[in-house]
Amino acid sequence: MDLDLLKTPAPTITALTAPFWKAAEEGRLSIQYCEECDTHVFYPRPICPQCWSDKLVWKDASGRATLKAFSEVHKPGHPGWLPIVPYTVGVVELEEGPTMLTFILRDAGDELGVGAAVHVVPTRISGRNMPAFKQSRSQERT
Ligand SMILES: [Zn+2]
Repeated sequence: MDLDLLKTPAPTITALTAPFWKAAEEGRLSIQYCEECDTHVFYPRPICPQCWSDKLVWKDASGRATLKAFSEVHKPGHPGWLPIVPYTVGVVELEEGPTMLTFILRDAGDELGVGAAVHVVPTRISGRNMPAFKQSRSQERT
């Protein structure tokens, strides 16, 4: 089924998270970066969790990540996801450091494994662009 046809709840967009969603609409994965201590930050916060500085700016992430954990969802928390069960969600560790809970795109027969290289694929889900991730064909990073 086309993920764009799902009727799932919309994200709550606040002033703090708006830059993330605006970038997503443009097909980019943007995360915060602390200019004080050189740390990338996700999810969006008003101050750096590392050094408490408020010198956070938005930067595009490389989109490369490593799969840290994943699970197949058979009973989703919202009925809007029922048409595509079972589907996969995972925690990915971005190349920049932060981890992110995300939808995992799978082709039939895709064998996922913890430690697999994944990459972001901007994906239409329920009428909006979301950053989803997919296993990279080769374990090599480009
Ligand atoms: Zn910092």
